[in-house]
Amino acid sequence: MKKLLEGYARFRRDIFPAQRELFESLAAGQQPETLFITCSDSRVVPSLITQTVPGTLFQIQNAGNLVPRYGAGLSGGTVATIEYAVMVLRVRDIVVCGHSDCGAMKALLDPDQLTEVPQVAAWLAQAHGTRTFVEAELGDASTEARLLAAVQRNARVQLENVCTHPLVAAAVERGELRLHAWYYDFVRGVLWACNPATNEFEQLPDDGG
Ligand SMILES: [Zn+2]
Repeated sequence: MKKLLEGYARFRRDIFPAQRELFESLAAGQQPETLFITCSDSRVVPSLITQTVPGTLFQIQNAGNLVPRYGAGLSGGTVATIEYAVMVLRVRDIVVCGHSDCGAMKALLDPDQLTEVPQVAAWLAQAHGTRTFVEAELGDASTEARLLAAVQRNARVQLENVCTHPLVAAAVERGELRLHAWYYDFVRGVLWACNPATNEFEQLPDDGG
């Protein structure tokens, strides 16, 4: 907690006064253009990676960046937040971003880790298809290769899950909403995006293009 309070002191002293106009402009409301869905992992900080100011990203963070499928009976906060983003905020893009060294995906591949956390096990059960895929396609691969495949596959599947919700599918159909599956390597500081034509992840250009 000491780090948080020291950080707050720096924010009050240095950051807020320098950006007072920005914060005052936010009083008029938020108009974020992107819903960014990623993992709760403390090493994934969307506004840092994208260098965006408050008011830019509407965010969902949960263990493993999972999105319950439509009608799965797991609607809860994640689906309600998607609904609000699409229907009220009218975001133009939804990003589902997995990341390197994801503990949720490690646990998905090694369920023995989940014996003492039954709620996490129940939550990750939604991603069981990704585990089945990795076991079938990469059964003999290294742990690192299996984890990378699981994280990237999971990002794609969760993006498909986003699109199972009729309000999302309708907005995509109208051309008002675009969907993106990303992968973030936090050790190298690099973002990858899934090319929907090939289902392969390609490094995002870092020249602003
Ligand atoms: Zn994670």
